[in-house]
Amino acid sequence: MRGKLVAGNWKSNGDLVANRRLLEQIKASVSSMPGVEAAVCVPYPYLAQAQQILGDSSVALGGQDVSQFGLGAYTGAVTSTMLADFGCKYAIVGHSERRSIFGDLDEVVAAKFEAARKAGLVPILCLGESLQERETEITESVVGRQLDAVIAASGVASLSRAVVAYEPVWAIGTGKTASPAQAQAVHAFIRNKVARLDAEVASGLKILYGGSVKAGNAVELFGQPDIDGGLIGGASLVADEFIAICRAAVARA
Ligand code: PEP
Repeated sequence: MRGKLVAGNWKSNGDLVANRRLLEQIKASVSSMPGVEAAVCVPYPYLAQAQQILGDSSVALGGQDVSQFGLGAYTGAVTSTMLADFGCKYAIVGHSERRSIFGDLDEVVAAKFEAARKAGLVPILCLGESLQERETEITESVVGRQLDAVIAASGVASLSRAVVAYEPVWAIGTGKTASPAQAQAVHAFIRNKVARLDAEVASGLKILYGGSVKAGNAVELFGQPDIDGGLIGGASLVADEFIAICRAAVARA
């Protein structure tokens, strides 16, 4: 049993007052959900606040990105050891906003994945195609290429302590969700691709879906055989919505 994971990606949102309210509501409602783990990936400056509020609750903490480098002269970069120091379990790498806005190439994403892994963090590796790539029917080659870069750098065994998030770029923050069948098809493609290299790693690999997940569509998405939860952007900022998505995961766990 892989269990389900529901991870919130707050992106560049929040302030001390709003965060406290949101975190306290999440902590009160989503602790000890059978078969489901909840996590929040908060902006770096708020990691200490989130760590303190979540305390020893079952809600995990993550960073939204991580440096591919270690300690040193890398102005503005936050290392995986720093994330670990603030109680992070997860680090998102390769989010499409990092790839498209900040220019993170496949090789950089692979280096970030490796840096996170080496520090004992669980990387959440985001993969996904643009609308144009879907329309030209190259979704599998794009997602396959993004995954191959990580497997080439870290080996397939590295996926035994990692999470993959399939996030079609055209569904992120747009209100357009991939249909459960569309998402399932890509999730199955990812799992089969890994299975050709290592069947055991593939069967244990959590593959999340991300892209306009809401309480209203989560049950159906999470009911697909290869969808092991969600990476949630906008809806993770609304306590009731995030909590309802976690409950949808419980219903499908
Ligand atoms: C995301 O940013 O990872 C995401 C899935 O965003 P949204 O849920 O808002 O589409």
